[in-house]
Amino acid sequence: AKDLVEFRNLKTHFHTSAGTVKAVDDVSFKIREGETVCVVGESGCGKSVTAMSLMRLIDTPPTGGEILFEGKDLLKLNKSDMSQIRGNEIAMIFQEPMTSLNPVLTIGEQIIEPIMLHELVSKKEARTRAIELINLVGIPRPEKIYESYPHELSGGMRQRIMIAIALSCNPKLLIADEPTTALDVTIQAQILDLMRDIKKKFNTSIMLITHDLGVVAEMADYVVVMYAGKVIEQAPVIELFQNPKHPYTKGLLKAKPIINQRQERLYSIPGSVPNPVDLGNNCHFHDRCEFCMNICVEKEPPLGTDPNGHKVACWLYEEEGKAQ
Ligand code: SF4
Ligand code: MG
Repeated sequence: AKDLVEFRNLKTHFHTSAGTVKAVDDVSFKIREGETVCVVGESGCGKSVTAMSLMRLIDTPPTGGEILFEGKDLLKLNKSDMSQIRGNEIAMIFQEPMTSLNPVLTIGEQIIEPIMLHELVSKKEARTRAIELINLVGIPRPEKIYESYPHELSGGMRQRIMIAIALSCNPKLLIADEPTTALDVTIQAQILDLMRDIKKKFNTSIMLITHDLGVVAEMADYVVVMYAGKVIEQAPVIELFQNPKHPYTKGLLKAKPIINQRQERLYSIPGSVPNPVDLGNNCHFHDRCEFCMNICVEKEPPLGTDPNGHKVACWLYEEEGKAQ
């Protein structure tokens, strides 16, 4: 499949009074057409900032690198071209659908608004399309839902509506940031099924941000593991699960899931993510790593590639580092 998105050495750094926060630091990976790429890591590792940088929805624009979308660098587009792409080709859904829906507008009004804006169709046509979309995301009696208000719907239904709104523009890329974290397990499974169906039906590429390796196992074609602003490992999903290389990834995979827990899951990796301010040029995982060597504290490990295309940034795999 063709490349749809390519992050090339993306840097999104914030300058704060306490120092520089390299929220996203030299991040490179691709998303191909019809592929689901899961970006995984603990809270605060840079997953959401990576997505927001692509959408150009942060006040501080990326400080370096490129984000190619069908070969065009999104970071170079003017505001109006960018908002065209954001409304038409890239759509995003978030963790808490209640905050993304307007409580005083009906579901129908919220679905037709982007349709009318981007496709310049009449209200009647937009309504027909909205009903189709509500139906498509698996909600029964779409005419009734069309007239409902967000508070009349369950959390799972609201997330389906957010997906319907996202699909209203036939996006090539759907970005989903922890889309099921606020939902209970059964509903979570249904929403993930829905996303898989959509991907199959429309060949949509999905960038799925999650801290949950269960979700990764079910959804991903390709996995990008982030830690403290860096990509520390990336590989096709089966390769990553069968042959994890980075000690952090291994720790994530060892951690037992806590069933039905709503918050960010607590991993059993000892320690916590480092203070993001003024991180050194070393392995940011070094103070949690049982394999830490002198070089790890002194030098940053490069992201090296093995012959299978499996990438890892860790001095234990120095040979791959050199091969780069
Ligand atoms: Fe551990 Fe060193 Fe690898 Fe970092 S580079 S993960 S400290 S072995
Ligand atoms: Mg986040």
